[in-house]
Amino acid sequence: MRDPRHDILFEPIRIGPVTAKNRFFQVPHCNGMGHAMPLAHAAMREAKAEGGWAVVSTEECEIHHSSDLTPYVEARLWDDRDIPALALMCEKVHAHGALAAVELTHNGPAASNLFSREVLLAPSHQPTKYGYPQQARAMDKRDIREYRRWHREAAVRGMKAGMDIVYVYAAHDLSLAMHFLQRRRNQRTDEYGGSLENRVRLLRELIEDTKDAVGHRCGVALRFATEEMLGPDGVELAEARDIVAMLAELPDLWDVNVSAWYNDSLPSRFGGEAAQEPFVNFVKRATSKPVVGVGRFTSPDTMVSQIRRGVLDIIGAARPSIADPFLPRKIEEGRLDDIRECIGCNVCVSGDNTISPIRCTQNPSMGEEWRKGWHPERIAPARKPEKVLVVGGGPAGLEAARALGQRGFEVALAEGSKVLGGRVAREAKLPGLAEWGRVRDWRVGQINKLRNVSVYLDSRLSAQDVLDFGAAHVVVATGARWRRDGAGRTHGAGLAGLADAANVFTPDDLMDGPLPEGTVAVYDDDGGYHATVLAEALARAGRQVHFLTPEDVVAPWGQFTLEYRHVRKRLASLGVQARVSQVLRALDGHELVLEDAWSGQTQLLHVDALVSVTSRLPEDALYHALLAREADWADAGVSSVTRIGDAEAPGLIAHAVYAGHRYAQELGEAKVGEVPFKRHFHHAGE
Ligand code: ADP
Ligand code: SF4
Repeated sequence: MRDPRHDILFEPIRIGPVTAKNRFFQVPHCNGMGHAMPLAHAAMREAKAEGGWAVVSTEECEIHHSSDLTPYVEARLWDDRDIPALALMCEKVHAHGALAAVELTHNGPAASNLFSREVLLAPSHQPTKYGYPQQARAMDKRDIREYRRWHREAAVRGMKAGMDIVYVYAAHDLSLAMHFLQRRRNQRTDEYGGSLENRVRLLRELIEDTKDAVGHRCGVALRFATEEMLGPDGVELAEARDIVAMLAELPDLWDVNVSAWYNDSLPSRFGGEAAQEPFVNFVKRATSKPVVGVGRFTSPDTMVSQIRRGVLDIIGAARPSIADPFLPRKIEEGRLDDIRECIGCNVCVSGDNTISPIRCTQNPSMGEEWRKGWHPERIAPARKPEKVLVVGGGPAGLEAARALGQRGFEVALAEGSKVLGGRVAREAKLPGLAEWGRVRDWRVGQINKLRNVSVYLDSRLSAQDVLDFGAAHVVVATGARWRRDGAGRTHGAGLAGLADAANVFTPDDLMDGPLPEGTVAVYDDDGGYHATVLAEALARAGRQVHFLTPEDVVAPWGQFTLEYRHVRKRLASLGVQARVSQVLRALDGHELVLEDAWSGQTQLLHVDALVSVTSRLPEDALYHALLAREADWADAGVSSVTRIGDAEAPGLIAHAVYAGHRYAQELGEAKVGEVPFKRHFHHAGE
């Protein structure tokens, strides 16, 4: 059972009037479902509670309609009619002996009010954070009194909903309580501006108000960002130390992190486990109250070390709880190799940023708990344990084989190469992506425990091989290859001459073979992570690198995954020349013909090699060969052939894992309906 070294993680901790049963705390995290999909939201939080987290929190929760975050979908407590949605979450969380927490916030100039059409509020007159063409106005004393009233009333509503912990939120540059602390947002000359004492005043009042309103029943937590990495324009460590000293004993719990979100949820490409320690380790010495912090903790030994060394009292987690809602239980039961570790890809974050339900690369059930009834650990046994052949051992094939095996099917996984992992095995070797190998490692580890799953390496199958195998169901998960002909968003039909040129390389070439020599242009018409990672690899290997894209933004998808700023900084630090709005028109020997997307002017760029990152084509020859032989299926005992993952349509690793899981969930099950998931409906009414 549990390793005694990890016992300390299971000690109960008092947080004001409530007690957390252990030291695992699911800190607030966005999920793209929020107030709009309360049933889905509650079921997702319930999975965490069932998985052993002692505290399960909401995401940021709007306290008032003047802090309307449209189009983002977060939690909401504008008035009493918002209570039932959060009461449902509390009920589900309490059913598993966990505490529920709510992170109250008024986002001031970081709100949008696109829905409520209220005028935005801020410490001083200023532009909105997200570029909406309307300014926020300076709050007068009456506004501050009103704000305190809204916060207090929202706290009471949270308590009525059943919340055990109520947060005052001063982090991520997202809440007024933090905006008053920041010199760049607060130029007031009254008692709420100027000196640190004055800038802290409102935060102090909010904590006092909250304790006064709900402190008898609820723990009052302060979420506080200690460093914004913006120099004197932001909250800096030196000042944060003073703030912590000033408020040390006031909250019942300190939840500390770095700001903004892109620094807090740092992708693994830019930082590993426990990366925040240098910014938060002073807090515990300044207060006798418990301290929770985050650091994408997935290793129980690291967690124990944080506690033993006096860095944190409580292990906070957003992403590790998304990748594995059952992480605490697995540690408690000594099942460490069952932990599905977060890979730090931030696909989860992209859900919030694309205003869609959260998904996770490692945990395909995330966001599907209610609408598809998927559970992160359990899956229905096969009605009929037929023989299934999975062709291809990338993320799609591995997850299909694993989940089919868990259901009790008789599974054979055939992989053409000598290693499992497919694209994950290759991409994990690129700079900063080593942790992505966890997608393979966890699945291989699980498959190795399943007696009903056999793995055949070095087995590149033809259609005849598949038919000879005699499986009832065939899953083709053979992946995709990058195109060499320049076809992509800009040039649908490709560019003449590219496919045959000796100095044109694809991402596959770079992953499989030596890097091109000399001056290299990376042309990115894909917009994802591949091109910038390859540019980084080339620059680190000493090549002179030009990064070119027809987009107006470098690698735009990275804005959704919080990679953008880190990518720009890294490319700049490596001397990579990044040029946007450049359309590749031709490659003439060693001359790239580039056209400026807006002026139409062309320019030549001399390079030794071109890495063309435009789009991929499915490796679907096997699938089509099998379709062509449909007449032979019955004799071979084959009743279905299905392609999944990149072999169907190339996408993220998350899409491939999801496709594999979905296949396994649905095999042998009746079709649910035309729409294969439940939805929330708003019935007419006020
Ligand atoms: P996905 O992301 O959809 O899982 P990948 O490209 O990561 O796709 O993985 C596909 C895997 O399938 C690769 O490891 C590749 O070697 C393997 N593969 C491709 N064709 C065959 C085949 N005919 N027989 C067996 N394995 C194959
Ligand atoms: Fe971790 Fe990626 Fe899952 Fe987010 S999506 S929890 S970063 S594995």
